Amino acid sequence: MSTAALALARCDELAALSSRPDAIERMHLTAEHARANALVAGWMEQAGLRPWQDAAGNQCGRREGTMPGLPALLLGSHLDTVPDAGRYDGPLGVVMALAVVERLRERELPFALEVVGFGDEEGARFGTALLGSRAFAGTWEEAWWDLSDRDGTTLREAFRDFGLDPARVGEAARRPEQLVGYLEAHIEQGPHLEAADASLGYVTTIAGARRFAITVLGEARHAGGTPYSRRRDALVGASEVVTTVERLARATGDHGCIATVGRVEVSPGAVNVVPGRVDLTLDLRAATDAARDAMWEMILAEAEASCAARGLALEAVETHHASAAPCAPWLQQAVVAGIAATGDADPMGLWSRAGHDAMAVAAVSDIAMLFVRCADGISHHPDEAVREVDVARGIDALEQAVLEVARTVAGRGAA
Ligand SMILES: [Zn+2]
Repeated sequence: MSTAALALARCDELAALSSRPDAIERMHLTAEHARANALVAGWMEQAGLRPWQDAAGNQCGRREGTMPGLPALLLGSHLDTVPDAGRYDGPLGVVMALAVVERLRERELPFALEVVGFGDEEGARFGTALLGSRAFAGTWEEAWWDLSDRDGTTLREAFRDFGLDPARVGEAARRPEQLVGYLEAHIEQGPHLEAADASLGYVTTIAGARRFAITVLGEARHAGGTPYSRRRDALVGASEVVTTVERLARATGDHGCIATVGRVEVSPGAVNVVPGRVDLTLDLRAATDAARDAMWEMILAEAEASCAARGLALEAVETHHASAAPCAPWLQQAVVAGIAATGDADPMGLWSRAGHDAMAVAAVSDIAMLFVRCADGISHHPDEAVREVDVARGIDALEQAVLEVARTVAGRGAA
């Protein structure tokens, strides 16, 4: 079996570790998570890594470099999934990392090589994403212990049920001097590589989203008895806000801002009452924080003006704010060199619209990412698909990127 075919077969094996017989669903700190860690630990041993599960439930594996105790180049991704998931978002990055380690088994490297399968990236169980990689990065927040899943199990209880000690979560944290960098391979989760007929791309930066709760306030009145001159219809005002959001973000082009209203709630929500209040959510992303923030100012100004013209009030509260995580130029260059070595002389660079573990790891180490083309840009869906040829090129590129990093690190030592 080819290296890529083996990697894909392993994604199938992981997909079978699900809480549902008819779908893929592997949540943080569940029985399926434990089985996935055990499976990956076995593959790590086969690849010559010493495996262990860290204090936050992340599956780690390590082999030493030219001498024991050197800082590690970290490869990996996450092993958890969203409900009714595909089989490649996350696991592909872990099995590709293992394929590369296997290939470099006999190679002396000026750093330790580690592979990690993070236990939580999606945040599907506790509503907060990156729990595994945030523990790894040492940016754990005490308030998270009281988060609960839909059955009312708190994160603290889930840790104990999984055999972990909440008091020891700090032991999962790494320090910057222990790491050379983090390279993550991941499916693109978008259509750009496919549209360019490219197998692989390198990530320039991972967008940090801002999210807002927006409320449009009008006046609820009898739908029949209230003439248009007297109406202050919050839903019509909110509809204008929705189209404004799309128009302004769309005007920035294919590689500009992405803005989404994902949820709308109309009050009182009766068939014969003019809507008095509408609550909506806004999710905003762009390649840079500056572009994203400028877009928010534009959206807010236009939305306020269009609501005011209808006699409506508009309130906006920020509910989430994350900074963009730029890839380190030197590590990004290693990924570019890796892709170039597969025959693509001019690799495509793109910013990641989706969040990734690398965002969290960026707090303690340089990061870079390799994107693998996926079919039709589909992700977070059972139809997620990759081509074996792209995975084969991806493993080649990741291997070459590791060797490029080795040359850079050896050069630093010699300097
Ligand atoms: Zn992912």
